[in-house]
Amino acid sequence: MIYTDTRDSSVKTDFRTAVMGGMNPATGGLYIPVSFPKLPSSFINKNPEPSFRDIAFNMAKPYVEGEIPDEDLMAIIQDAYPFTPKVVPVDSHSYVLELFHGPTCAFKDFGARFMARVMSYFNKSENGTLHILVATSGDTGSAVGSAFHNVPGLDVTILYPEGKISKIQEKQLSTFTGNVRALKVKGTFDDCQKLVKTAFTDAELRKEFRLSSANSINISRLLPQSFYYMYSSLVVKNRAPLDSKLENPAIISIVPSGNFGNLTSGLIAKEMGAPIAGFVAATNTNRTIPDWIATGDYNPRPSVETYANAMDVGAPSNYERIKAMYSLEQVRQMFASYWLDNNGIKEAITECNTKNGYIIDPHGAIGWKAWNDIRNGGMKDLVNGKKGDYTKPGLTANVPEWANQVVNNNSVGIILETAHPAKFGSTVKDAIGREPAIPESLQAVMELPDQAIPMENDYEQFKAWLKANLAK
Ligand SMILES: *Cc1c(COP(=O)(O)O)cnc(C)c1O
Repeated sequence: MIYTDTRDSSVKTDFRTAVMGGMNPATGGLYIPVSFPKLPSSFINKNPEPSFRDIAFNMAKPYVEGEIPDEDLMAIIQDAYPFTPKVVPVDSHSYVLELFHGPTCAFKDFGARFMARVMSYFNKSENGTLHILVATSGDTGSAVGSAFHNVPGLDVTILYPEGKISKIQEKQLSTFTGNVRALKVKGTFDDCQKLVKTAFTDAELRKEFRLSSANSINISRLLPQSFYYMYSSLVVKNRAPLDSKLENPAIISIVPSGNFGNLTSGLIAKEMGAPIAGFVAATNTNRTIPDWIATGDYNPRPSVETYANAMDVGAPSNYERIKAMYSLEQVRQMFASYWLDNNGIKEAITECNTKNGYIIDPHGAIGWKAWNDIRNGGMKDLVNGKKGDYTKPGLTANVPEWANQVVNNNSVGIILETAHPAKFGSTVKDAIGREPAIPESLQAVMELPDQAIPMENDYEQFKAWLKANLAK
């Protein structure tokens, strides 16, 4: 596969360079494959559907062709995914896609574990340590730390906004020892992301250290997230006729979004032939993308803190990829968009539990509420010309091409549940009166001592720290 760059389409490079570099240091752009090969329809139409790992292997294969032989790719997939996503029906037209069955209980395990194994594979033929710098608004840090911990030749520095992530999240990313460490930055997630981006474009630093990223800007995190979109859409395609009594319903993926890496992965799956009719971009008060879809103006802004804090992103980095892949008009045909404030998030957790008996986390709750509003009159109102006010929570004024399928009750939704509700126990407790049971892996990490290193929001100080502390 040839990879190009969101800022310069004359760039042509291979998977290895795209993965090891993270972003293109010459342009500051993000790597994307030049094509998204379709899986054969004989594969997509299997009933019962292929296994998750089988899908993962077949989807990854064209992107690593000529660089990772089949048997090595198979070993990477087997090692990365001892767990699978779970499709849970919550009513006759709605499914929750549980993406929290990995070691850190969030969907980022899918991308991070694949990326760590691919990097380690490529690094075997290099000299010296590869330094991963990663900014996190919550779950990236723990997923990346866990995926890379004790992997030889790789070293990870995590930056997170001090005081802006939950206690469990902080424990999960600040208690590593050895090759993984965390810096708690006096600033926001966007500040952390900026420090990392500045380091990548710093020629002096790059001369001294081999640097790479592990944010969703890295293509090796984005590609594997497309596996579960394909998997869930094939599961639902096969079982929806039984659950919903609809022969061929439009399948809509509802995606709680921050940096929009997850949703970009969904677009890749659709390009590759996943039977997904469209997407709902669901956000919190950080509604940069819903505003863009509604108005056509893209206005990145400082992030605002919310209960769905892993989505507190004001300048989503994958906007650049979405723009490179599609026009605004195409985006408007594929996407509905929706946002909720903190009150709405809490009410949605309560309502989901009351109506469906399902305990959902604050991120998934926005998706759940979006789908329920869309189905119960929201999309009909839009189709009938009611525009609403995009500055108020709810469905944003845009009528996607699949709108009539929803209005005619010929659709089913897959709501991506991006984290285990226990990671946000106090918000969930406020909403439903009790804490969700804590999985064992989370309980164990709570007992470990916190090792985070304090850091000012200041590039020179950050750079000096790196020079003094990273191994050459
Ligand atoms: C990271 C994260 C998101 C947002 O994913 P993006 O790829 O940044 O859009 C949503 N929910 C949870 C729980 C997350 O950790």
